[in-house]
Amino acid sequence: MSIQENVARIRADIEKAAIAAGRDPKEIQLCAATKMNDAENVRQAIAAGVDCSGENRVQELTQKLSENAYQGAPVHFIGHLQTNKVKQVVGKVDLIQSVDRPKLLQCIQEEAARQGIVQDILLEINIGEEESKSGFSRSDILPLVEKMADFPNVRVRGLMAIPPICEDPGGNDKFFLEIRNLAVDITEKKYDNVSVDILSMGMSGDYADAIRCGSTMIRVGTAIFGARNYDTSHQK
Ligand SMILES: *Cc1c(COP(=O)(O)O)cnc(C)c1O
Repeated sequence: MSIQENVARIRADIEKAAIAAGRDPKEIQLCAATKMNDAENVRQAIAAGVDCSGENRVQELTQKLSENAYQGAPVHFIGHLQTNKVKQVVGKVDLIQSVDRPKLLQCIQEEAARQGIVQDILLEINIGEEESKSGFSRSDILPLVEKMADFPNVRVRGLMAIPPICEDPGGNDKFFLEIRNLAVDITEKKYDNVSVDILSMGMSGDYADAIRCGSTMIRVGTAIFGARNYDTSHQK
């Protein structure tokens, strides 16, 4: 299957899942998770109509930016971001989806202020409370968004979550629904610098479930590009 065929099939799935849930398919954006794919693959995905690209590693982001790989669609950062690399990401991407700790939020604020911009972000939630994953816990979020007026160069656009790995269909629904309920709580309270229009949840294995549970942005890698080759000796 070509990238174009894969994107078309995923679009059809999005439409089906949205309609079954009584939602407008246009509410759901398709973000291509582009890690370990070269500029040519990224260009093909954008030509096939993905809404945005999501990059995991700063080095890959910088490389592909220099190749104009993301031209024609927004680019997001979706990976774990070290504070010493914040300068290479703030102002370079439309949205940082993976803001997962207070120190990173503070560094993004400082760098955005230095550049004189407002950086859009999502707050990443470690919804399964897994040791191996980064992210705020659910209970951190309300106290944090209450303080967002202290971060004038950062605008929260929503929430991002990576639930535990789960093979059963519907197995992560409870987590997706928790995120959705949290978004409703935040919206009702109307905080400064905070909106929750974007709920970034759902990947290749569970995007239909995530859409049924309220996702507005799915991040899809394997189902667009095929399996990633983790053998670094072949990495370009
Ligand atoms: C790789 C990745 C994805 C996509 O995963 P697939 O299972 O290949 O669709 C989504 N989100 C993040 C943060 C990722 O790193």
